[in-house]
Amino acid sequence: RDHFTLPWHPKPQFNTQKVLDTNQPEYYNPIIRLRCREYRVTLYLNWLLVRCVVLQVLLYPGALVGSAGQRFQAMLEQGGPLGELVQWADLSACLTVLGHNLTFSASQSHLHRSASLPLTFDLIYTDYHGLAHLRGAMGLAFQHYQCRFRVLDSFGTEPAFNLPGYAHRHGFSTLWGSWGLQPRQYMTMFPHTPDNSFLGFVSEEAAANVETLEDEFQPECYKKDRIAVVYGKQDYMWQGKSEYVKVISEEIETHATVYQLSGRRSNLPTFVKNHGLLTQHRFLQLLRKAKVFVGLGFPYEGPAPIEAIALGCAFLQPRFQPPHSSDNNDFYRGKPTTRQISSQHPYAEEFIGKPHVWTVDVTNKTDIQLALKAILSTEPFTPQEFTCMGMLERVHGYITHQSFCSNSVPTWPSEKVLRAHLGPLGQSCVSVCRRSSLLCEPALFHHLNIPQAFIRLGLGCSTTVEEANHLVPSYTPWGRHCGLQQEPLLFSCAGSDPSHRRLCPCRIQELLCKLPN
Ligand code: UDP
Repeated sequence: RDHFTLPWHPKPQFNTQKVLDTNQPEYYNPIIRLRCREYRVTLYLNWLLVRCVVLQVLLYPGALVGSAGQRFQAMLEQGGPLGELVQWADLSACLTVLGHNLTFSASQSHLHRSASLPLTFDLIYTDYHGLAHLRGAMGLAFQHYQCRFRVLDSFGTEPAFNLPGYAHRHGFSTLWGSWGLQPRQYMTMFPHTPDNSFLGFVSEEAAANVETLEDEFQPECYKKDRIAVVYGKQDYMWQGKSEYVKVISEEIETHATVYQLSGRRSNLPTFVKNHGLLTQHRFLQLLRKAKVFVGLGFPYEGPAPIEAIALGCAFLQPRFQPPHSSDNNDFYRGKPTTRQISSQHPYAEEFIGKPHVWTVDVTNKTDIQLALKAILSTEPFTPQEFTCMGMLERVHGYITHQSFCSNSVPTWPSEKVLRAHLGPLGQSCVSVCRRSSLLCEPALFHHLNIPQAFIRLGLGCSTTVEEANHLVPSYTPWGRHCGLQQEPLLFSCAGSDPSHRRLCPCRIQELLCKLPN
């Protein structure tokens, strides 16, 4: 079917047990057992506390619709991208668990019927393709309702690329940007820049739930063999990598999951044991047995390395020197981001690191060999933000606190968490805050967008000018120029420039919205 309304057949998805609280017979807490894709996770939620407001939510993954959707779906069984689908699946699971009413649509005609006016949906999750469809379906009402949209955008959209006139005048126009939404309406796969909202996905370590596992996953199967699994579902990802793979296979038996057209000869080296493209179930089973998951350099920033680390593999990946970016790389060209990609998976490199993540120079045989020797055994590890509870808390926090439909300044998080920092020349607020183990919080920029903020940071301004510029508020030492922001959509944690010292609204990193116990 091209659309369905959730909750649908609750049985295969959830086992719901009602637990009576004898002290308060009028209340009950359903214990929800959520099956998170291929593995089971038990979540205990006090549903009565969580479901304060039930929202009507439309999920419309535009990439799955029409002829583009047919191409996308055809690719899925041949090693095409699956990461976006992982995110859509986890988002639907979260919204359902949080008690909201979901309608899932992958048809333009259904969208035209659903988006009739007045709009009955409180929130519409879509992607860049879907935004264009929504504009077609809603006509002039698109602008009125766009504050209700949330856009799943794996690689992120920085503010400089988002505002059409500004992007055009300053050379930031790209294929995907320029929709003029609030930057936090774009939801990313990894926490690339806090200008966007980090949505993420769930990658939970299944071994913790042994009692719920089927026979093939029973504990004796968790014993690690001395094998490596190479991350690369299609032949072309292996091109030019044979020396690197050879060095690895000399140290450790090497497996692959590359899609193979039946009857066609494989281009993979003969010393690699190819299983063909696996279902996720079998793929995770293979990772459970492996010691190392080997990145070839592509695909960039996918979910698989996080899953592999959660299953006790170390992730070995290539360093990019010089870093890849929209200036020098075909994949990132046209993407609305200035990020410098220092390895295949910068999140894994920066936020997880050794002993789980080893980033090497793949042209240096000794570097690879030393890393492989050091990887003897690794404990499974899942960063809190990629657990079921982490994602539920995040989604619940966004739904409860993010509102883009009024013109007033954001009130969440409160000013109490603000730590104002003055960055050095050329550094973005993303790095300025991170260096102090803090996080740039774009919703707090407006507190720094006043002349007194410069005085408090000990700066004397000879001129103070309000301008529409993604680099302000900032201080330019030459001429002691202080810049204030005129256009709130341009407040940017990501913006940096060699002649600007950014005024940065940092905050502590801890989660701002815990689910009730
Ligand atoms: N995956 C799979 N079979 C395989 C290889 C990967 O089902 O043979 C799954 C994997 O578990 C992950 C998803 O594909 O959840 C996306 O993986 P990847 O990191 O490769 O991202 P993509 O490039 O597909 O977006």
